[in-house]
Amino acid sequence: MSTNQHHVATLLAHANGTPDPVTGAVVPGIAPATTFARGADYALTSPQHLYARDDNDLFRQTEGLIARLENAAASRLFASGMAAISSIFRTVPPGAAVVLQSGIYWGTTAWARKFCKRQGIALVEADSTDGPRFCEILAETNPDLVFIETPANPGLGVTDIALVAEAAHEAGAILAVDATAATPLLCKPLDFGADLVAHSATKAMNGHSDLLAGVVSTGNAEDEHWKLIVEDRHDAGAVLGSFECWLLLRGLRTLALRVERMSANAQAIAEYLESNPAVERVLYPGLESHPGHEIAQAQMSGGYGSLLSFLVKGDETDALAVAGRLKLILRATSLGGVESLVEHRYTIEGDATGVAKNLLRLSVGIEHPDDLIADLQLALGG
Ligand SMILES: *Cc1c(COP(=O)(O)O)cnc(C)c1O
Repeated sequence: MSTNQHHVATLLAHANGTPDPVTGAVVPGIAPATTFARGADYALTSPQHLYARDDNDLFRQTEGLIARLENAAASRLFASGMAAISSIFRTVPPGAAVVLQSGIYWGTTAWARKFCKRQGIALVEADSTDGPRFCEILAETNPDLVFIETPANPGLGVTDIALVAEAAHEAGAILAVDATAATPLLCKPLDFGADLVAHSATKAMNGHSDLLAGVVSTGNAEDEHWKLIVEDRHDAGAVLGSFECWLLLRGLRTLALRVERMSANAQAIAEYLESNPAVERVLYPGLESHPGHEIAQAQMSGGYGSLLSFLVKGDETDALAVAGRLKLILRATSLGGVESLVEHRYTIEGDATGVAKNLLRLSVGIEHPDDLIADLQLALGG
C-alpha cells in the first residue's frame, strides 16, 4: 500500500493503488461500462457511478496519482494535451486579455491565435524568459490568464515561475504552466506559485508513444477557473477512453526510471554535441552555457528532461542532411517516448514563430547513451 511517507518512485510503481480487495489483482481492471444501473428504489447502486463521462475509477486513480506528483489539490485528465490546454483558455471571458509566452509548443500558439481572435480575446505574445520585461507587460496588459511553458519547446527557454506568478497575481491574472518537457518529477510549478499546471501526457508521462492524453492540475480546488475546467471536462466531454487511461496508468508506473535515464542521456548528449565542431550551439537547460541554467537549477530537481535542441553549422539543407544520416534516432515529431526522435522544426513551423532553420530538436529516449552518441557522431562528422 502507498502512503504519504513513500517516495514518488514508490507511489508510481504501485500506481497509487492497492490490490483489488475481492481478487487480489495487483493491476486495476479496465472498466468499459458507460452507464450504471439503479435499484428498484431508483437509487444508484453506487453514488460514484452514474455515467462514464466523469465516473470512471481509473480516471480517479490516475488523477489521484498525478495530483500527488504535482502537490496539487486536484487533477483532471483530458483526451489530449491540447484538450487540456484549451479547457484552460476556455475559462477566459470574451473581451478579456491573455498573455502567452512566445516561442512555445507550436500547437498551443496556433490554436490560441485562432481561438482568441474568434472570441474577441486580446492575445499578447511575449518572451517570458526575459522575466523583468515580461512582468512589465503583464502590468500593462491586465490579463485574465498568463500562459507559459517551461522548459519551452523547441527552444528550451526557461521561465522563472515564481517571478511570473507574482507579477501575474499582481495584475489580477492566474498563471498556467505547461510543464510537459519537465514532467511533474523534475518541476512542480504549483510549488512556485502557479495556479494551474498542464501536461501533454502523450509525452513522457505515458512514455511509449502509443496514446494521446492530457492533464490539468490546480493548487486550489475552490478557484473559479478550476471549477470551469472541471465543468468543461464533464459537460463538453473531452475525456480519455478507459483503455487509454489504463495504458497511461501503466506507463506512469515506470515514469521515475524513465525520466532518470532520459535526463542522464540528454545531459550526456548535450555535452557531447557542445564539443562537436559541426554544431553551432546546443540548447539544453542542464548546460552551464544555457542562459536559463541558474533558474532551471532553482526550480527543477533530478535532471533537466529529455528534450534538447541544437543548431547545425550551416543552413536548413545542412540540418536536414544531418537528420537524414541518422540511423538509430527516428525522424518523427513528438517527444518523451522511450525511443529517441529527431525533428526539423522549421519544416513544421515555417516562418510563423521565428524558429531557426538549422535547428534540430531531439527527444532523448532510454537507449544506451553510447549508441545515441555514436549515431549523432556518424551523422555530424566533426
Ligand atoms: C505535444 C505537446 C502538447 C500537445 O499535446 P497533445 O497530447 O499532442 O495534444 C502541448 N504542449 C507541449 C509542450 C507538447 O509538447
